[in-house]
Amino acid sequence: MSISPLMPVYPRCGVRPVRGEHCHLIDEDGTRYLDFASGIAVNALGHSHAGLIGAIQKQAETLMHVSNLYGSPQGEALAQRLVDNTFADTVFFTNSGAEAVEAAIKTARAYHQSVGNDEKFELITFSNAFHGRTMATISASNQEKMHKGFMPLLPGFKYAEFDDLESAKALMGPNTAGFLVEPIQGEGGIRPASQEFMSGLRALADEHDLMLVLDEVQCGVARTGALYAYEHYGIEPDVLATAKGIGGGFPLGACLATEKAARGMVFGTHGSTYGGNPLAMAAGNAVLDAVLAEGFMTEVQEKGERIRARLEQFIGNYPDLFELVRGKGLMLGLKMKVESRPFYVHLRDNHQLLTVAAGDNTLRIIPPLIIGDAEIDEFFDKLSAGTADFEVPEG
Ligand SMILES: *Cc1c(COP(=O)(O)O)cnc(C)c1O
Repeated sequence: MSISPLMPVYPRCGVRPVRGEHCHLIDEDGTRYLDFASGIAVNALGHSHAGLIGAIQKQAETLMHVSNLYGSPQGEALAQRLVDNTFADTVFFTNSGAEAVEAAIKTARAYHQSVGNDEKFELITFSNAFHGRTMATISASNQEKMHKGFMPLLPGFKYAEFDDLESAKALMGPNTAGFLVEPIQGEGGIRPASQEFMSGLRALADEHDLMLVLDEVQCGVARTGALYAYEHYGIEPDVLATAKGIGGGFPLGACLATEKAARGMVFGTHGSTYGGNPLAMAAGNAVLDAVLAEGFMTEVQEKGERIRARLEQFIGNYPDLFELVRGKGLMLGLKMKVESRPFYVHLRDNHQLLTVAAGDNTLRIIPPLIIGDAEIDEFFDKLSAGTADFEVPEG
């Protein structure tokens, strides 16, 4: 037998963390890494956060899981907090981002079918989007590398150009149910949608009674300096998928919706065995305690602006290597003029700096939101050293 016990779908690297401390990861051989990847925007509170650990410990001792057949005081409390702090009137809890997007897709379809418009089942999605790895969520993305081997796709998705309103308009027709979009593309290369694009989609949705569905799995939960990125655009969605940061490392996601959008999601239409169990709710509550605390979001904005300003100054010294910095808050992308992956590997293996590669030759800079000044300085030390001794691979 040559297959590994872990199904070999990930090209795993040699870093093998066994412990986390604040913004650092410690490998099984004791090597310390500065973590500017945050488990891909998951560890919003870093590692070993006392509030998050305490909440999970306490809940684990009290009650870990009960069925959704029973009433959920823990779920009601967290849902109410999300409702109070967002556009939403109602929340469905999931265990992951893909499940949250899946629930959002079902909510959008069910809205139209509940009012008798069975033909309105098609969502317009956008180039280079990433929505997850289930059949529906890979079908929602135009990226062929995610489709290969898994055909046929689920029908009901059309792909327009990201940040191009005209291309979305051109795909609209009698089957259109709405739009599904990341306000800031994560995997696609930290690409923020323009104001015109987001306002334009909202206006089209209003005009034609379509659902504006946002995938904020990566950009949500204070990552950009607002609880959700749509706030920066001064618009509100009908449905929103959130996950990653919301559990701070505990598997948790949610589909948020307005009362109108959720009209098809009635008894018996959807479910999840684990979704919203007490342990997950305790984690979500602890994360909200931290990110909704007075001043937290302002600090994320300020730290983001400081890192961005220093990055912009820094890349000016290497015009052959770096093109620009983009993003919002602590969701930053460094777009390179060369392939970004070898640089990311070099920073990781030779300077113990963890970042994440993304599409469009972009390096993702997504530290824990609780990052401190000393760790920001450490980041720039490692980045400077790593840039100075980086050799662009031939070819
Ligand atoms: C990570 C991600 C997902 C999928 O989340 P999983 O928890 O891996 O299922 C969906 N959408 C976006 C924008 C993401 O970044």
